[in-house]
Amino acid sequence: MRKYIGKSVYKGVRLGRMVVMKDRNEPVKRKKTEDPEGELARLYAACEESKKQLGKLYEKAVKEVGEASAAIFEVHQMMLEDEDYLDAIHSMIRTEQVNAEYAVAVTGDNFSQMFASMDDEYMKARAADVKDISNRLVQNLSGCKEIDWVEMEPSIIIADDLSPSETVQMDKEKILAFVTVHGSSNSHTAILARMMNIPALIGVPLELDSIKDGMQAVVNGTTGEVILEPTEEICQQAQRLVAKEEERLHLLQNQKGQETVTTDGRKIHLYANIGSVKDMGYVLENDAEGIGLFRSEFLYLGRSDFPTEEEQFQAYKQVLQMMAGKRVIIRTLDIGADKQVDYFNLGKEDNPALGYRAIRICLKQPDIFKTQLRALLRAAVFGNLAVMYPMITATEEVADIYAIVDEVRAELDEMGIPYKIPEQGIMIETPAAVMISDELAQMVDFFSIGTNDLTQYTLAIDRQNEKLDDFYRPHHKAILKMIRMVVDNAHKAGKWAGICGELGADPELTETFVQMGVDELSVAPSAVLRLRKLIREL
Ligand code: PEP
Ligand code: MG
Repeated sequence: MRKYIGKSVYKGVRLGRMVVMKDRNEPVKRKKTEDPEGELARLYAACEESKKQLGKLYEKAVKEVGEASAAIFEVHQMMLEDEDYLDAIHSMIRTEQVNAEYAVAVTGDNFSQMFASMDDEYMKARAADVKDISNRLVQNLSGCKEIDWVEMEPSIIIADDLSPSETVQMDKEKILAFVTVHGSSNSHTAILARMMNIPALIGVPLELDSIKDGMQAVVNGTTGEVILEPTEEICQQAQRLVAKEEERLHLLQNQKGQETVTTDGRKIHLYANIGSVKDMGYVLENDAEGIGLFRSEFLYLGRSDFPTEEEQFQAYKQVLQMMAGKRVIIRTLDIGADKQVDYFNLGKEDNPALGYRAIRICLKQPDIFKTQLRALLRAAVFGNLAVMYPMITATEEVADIYAIVDEVRAELDEMGIPYKIPEQGIMIETPAAVMISDELAQMVDFFSIGTNDLTQYTLAIDRQNEKLDDFYRPHHKAILKMIRMVVDNAHKAGKWAGICGELGADPELTETFVQMGVDELSVAPSAVLRLRKLIREL
């Protein structure tokens, strides 16, 4: 039995087997080999393994998103048979006498750069594909295989750290808990754990090499402990805690169907945050009154090319139909910073959180934005849609957005495609937007305060930097004063204001938010019922 302590980002207790996700971003090391033929044999085996994995991914994708979108996995299989690519790897192993991993990584980089520099847009987009298949080969060569989510039984996920693109590919039904060596409390892994109502620990000093897949563990998100190979007694204790948790959840069930209203009659709109259509189960299970934040960028993560207009339209339409007339607020693409996607070719930045991200990308690359807007306007016909724009800092940006929306509207008119202009709001997540919220309120239908980024930018704290977790103070007076100011300015203009950042679910602040006049709280689905209970008792 071994016990480790980390920092809890979400409570709860789980007992189960572990699956280790090795760091995929670790640089590949160059090693001299005396046996190039042996390296070539390893390469062939890794190619065969990769093709098998791609075959399975293809079948899964056909079922989930249809044949057209699944075709990319067939393309990847074909690329693994490409003679130029394989010859380049072979010759490097033979002539430079290096390990197969290194030859694949270098060849992958060279080919990907070559594609990226081509003029043809289609060929340019293949840069990310070559990178993807090279990464897959390297993973298979180094023995850190991709998890087979279809075959895997529910498990505790252990990793060095997890990026949003990694979490988006996970089958959430199969995750019992997250435990990471690094990571910050404000990362999207933490947000995901809250949504799924499962324990998550970060900063746990585990040695990943000493953990074998299938080993048992108990994760306690209340004490921050993870116990590897627990004794029978500890397992029984954990089972008792799980049963208690289930009982508490069961007691909250009587909040379903109730109105979220204080004892003196103030109505609060209690909405849920989601990242994909698959999260709708949590929303319906927890009786959320709407969707307050659909992080649409998750549709763009964990893949090697842009989602088409049709794919997006289908996803938005499905959520709107499932919510059956209740408000669904879809946030337009908020890519960049920690949400990186190879095919956007965003380039490396020294300060990505202050960099080329979110609405800035959409305004600079309107083609990407217009595809999403077209999908949104078309989907608006199928329910109660509201759209909101992230990372706004200036009135000019809102004016520019409206000009693009007008272009999209004209194009749809011309093509005779049915659409509706939804309510349009903005996220208030920069201090600049707070300070001009009086002017912005005149231009938009609503505000939704993104306290995660607002805290980051106001307190000058990188939300991804685990060393700064102790300085990340979302209860800081500056943040609370800003929220009050934003709500007041919205109300003066006759608009409504909500909170969709993680702070919205903080029970210590619920009463303060209600007193400030906050109209809506959008929280992880797992927080809906306990917040409803709290508000009904205020
Ligand atoms: C926020 O910044 O508070 C927010 C809700 O958006 P995200 O966490 O996706 O940046
Ligand atoms: Mg944000």
